[in-house]
Amino acid sequence: MRRKLIAGNWKMHGSLTSNAGLLAGISAGIGAESGAPQCEVAVCVPAPYLAQCQSLLQDSRLAWGAQDVSAHAAGAYTGEISAAMLQDFGCRFVIVGHSERRAYHGETSAVVAHKAQRALAAGLVPIVCVGETLAERESGATGAVVQEQLQAVLEVVAPVDTAQLKNLVLAYEPVWAIGTGKTATPEMAQEVHALLRARLAAADAEAAAGIRILYGGSMKPENAADLLAMPDIDGGLIGGAALKAEDFLAIVRAA
Ligand code: PEP
Repeated sequence: MRRKLIAGNWKMHGSLTSNAGLLAGISAGIGAESGAPQCEVAVCVPAPYLAQCQSLLQDSRLAWGAQDVSAHAAGAYTGEISAAMLQDFGCRFVIVGHSERRAYHGETSAVVAHKAQRALAAGLVPIVCVGETLAERESGATGAVVQEQLQAVLEVVAPVDTAQLKNLVLAYEPVWAIGTGKTATPEMAQEVHALLRARLAAADAEAAAGIRILYGGSMKPENAADLLAMPDIDGGLIGGAALKAEDFLAIVRAA
């Protein structure tokens, strides 16, 4: 049985003051949720706020993480943040290959794969995002696109870190659904999740059964329960709705 994961992606939002209220609201809420242990909950915050999470969430059930990590271990890479540094700040998770990084920062599937590998090697859980654009969906290329994105990760991670593969988390995020208010129907999402799990199973059947595949793309309190009821949807990566404690907690309850 896979434990559900609800992870917030705060993107480039927040301030020391507003974060304090949001973190307190979420951690108080999940502390009180009955059945919450069946669901892991995390927030992925802008890097400067990791120290704030470490100080405020030490005794909370709310985990935290970053939104990107360097593909390099250390060295002359100005502006980059290594997996070891994220470890120093108590991160459990790191998002890699978000479509905004692929689109605006030129991250290729190969770069994303090396980032995932660095994260796993440092004991972090990478949340690897895959997903198709609207044009790709309309041309019938969804399956090919997400499989190519996953294949790149498997080629780097699976041969090196067979034991670690099971710690990977995948997030299916159709690009056309991110921040647009448009959501894939539960059936559309399930179809892609099942495809991704089948591809994982071809690489490692045991790991595939345990790997969590999250859905992301305008998940909100109103649609979360139906999406999360699908057999291969193991949680959510939440953008906009993660910035309001009551909305985020409603999604946690649905999980
Ligand atoms: C995201 O940024 O990963 C995301 C899913 O955003 P939203 O929930 O706002 O669509």
